[in-house]
Amino acid sequence: MPGHEIIGEEEQKEVLDVLSRKVLFRYEFDAQREGVYKVETFEREFARYCGARHALAVSSGTAALRVALAALGVGPGDEVITQGFTFVATWEAILDAGALPVFAEIDETLCLDPNDLEAHITPRTRAVIPVHMCGGQARVEEIVAAAGRHGVPVIEDTAQSCGGRLGQRALGSFGALGTFSFDSVKTLTTGEGGMVITDDEELYLRASEYHDHGHDHDPSVGRGLEKRRFFGFNYRMMELQGALGLAQLRKLEPAILPRQRRNKRVLRETLEKHDGITFRDLPDPDGDSATFLVFFLPTAEKARAFNRVLSDEGAGAVYWHDNLWHAYGQWEHLLEGRTPLSGGWPFRSPGGSHRCGFDPEALPRTAGILSRALTLPIRIHMDQQLPVLIRAIDKAACAVL
Ligand SMILES: *Cc1c(COP(=O)(O)O)cnc(C)c1O
Repeated sequence: MPGHEIIGEEEQKEVLDVLSRKVLFRYEFDAQREGVYKVETFEREFARYCGARHALAVSSGTAALRVALAALGVGPGDEVITQGFTFVATWEAILDAGALPVFAEIDETLCLDPNDLEAHITPRTRAVIPVHMCGGQARVEEIVAAAGRHGVPVIEDTAQSCGGRLGQRALGSFGALGTFSFDSVKTLTTGEGGMVITDDEELYLRASEYHDHGHDHDPSVGRGLEKRRFFGFNYRMMELQGALGLAQLRKLEPAILPRQRRNKRVLRETLEKHDGITFRDLPDPDGDSATFLVFFLPTAEKARAFNRVLSDEGAGAVYWHDNLWHAYGQWEHLLEGRTPLSGGWPFRSPGGSHRCGFDPEALPRTAGILSRALTLPIRIHMDQQLPVLIRAIDKAACAVL
C-alpha cells in the first residue's frame, strides 16, 4: 500500500510551492502565503473524494483516532469495542482517551464480526471501532446497524483501506466518523499524517478544536483572540504534509488503485488454479483498494509450510498470526498491562485496583482465522516481483497441497 513508490515531480512541485513562501503553518500568515493553504485544500479535496461533508487533517492516523474519540466525548468509565486483528494504534488511542478497549472477534472479512460485536455491547459501550483491514471492507453497514440498535456511534478505522468503497460509497463515510493514516507505508503518504472525516458539523467542530489546543478558528478574529470551549492538544498537520497529500490524492484513482488491482488480479489468478486455496471474504470485490491479497490454506500447518516454500523462493508472505503489532495474541504488553505511567494507569485505577484484564485466549476464532491466512502485500510497481511470486506460489502449492 505504498504511495511512496510514486513520489515524483508532482510532490516536488507542491512542496516547493510551500517552501518558496516560507509558510509552514496551516493557519495565519495570510499576507505572506499568497492564498496558498495546502492543508485546507487537501482537506477539501479529500472530503469531496470521500463524499463527506467535513475533513480534518491531523498529524497521524493514531491522532485521527484520538481526535475522533475526543469528538465523541469518550473518556474514563467508557468502553470502546474494536477487533483483535488491527494495528496497535487502534487500542492505544482508546487507552489514551482513558477508556477501556473491548475486543471482539473478526470473521473471514478479517474485520469485526457484526454478531460478535453485538454480544460485547454493554451499557458502558460509548463507541465501536471496526477496522477495514488490509485494503478490504468490514461488513460496515451491518456493524453500523448493530451499534445503532444500542445508540452507539461508529468510528471506522480506514488507515489501511484509503480509496476502498462498498457499493460505490467511500469507506470511512458510513460511521459517525472515519479515520485515515498517511504514514510512510500507507496507500497515500505524507510521511506522517492522518485525516478525520464526518458529515456531522458538531463532531467536526469538536474534533477541529480538540486537535488545536481548543482554538475555535473563528475567522473574524486573529489567532490569539479566538475563544475556546474546552482544552485540547496539538495534533495539527503542517503545510509540507498538506502539499504531499494533495499530490498523492490526485494519483489515487488514476495511478495507484488500477495498478494495485491489476497486480492483485495476476496473483489471485495464480492462486485460484490450486485446489485447497480459498480467499478472504470481500463484501464488495469491486471496491477493494487491493493493497493486500489474503488467502487461506486448509490448516495452520499447511499455511506455515506454504510460507516456508515462498520464503525459500524469496517471496515470503506476511503471517499475521505471529505478527507482534497486529495480532491480539502477540500483544503481551497489553495482555500483561504494562505501562510507563504512575500507579499502573490505565490498567489500574488511581486506587490501585485493576480496571481491566485481557485473557490471551479470549479470541479463539480470530486466532484460528489468522493461523490459516497468508498475505501478499500488493505494490504499485511489481513487474520485477510478479514472476518470482508466481513461480514461488506454484512451487509451494505443488509441495504442500
Ligand atoms: C497505520 C495504522 C494506524 C495508525 O496510523 P499512523 O499514521 O501510523 O499513526 C491506525 N490503524 C491502522 C489499522 C493502521 O494500519
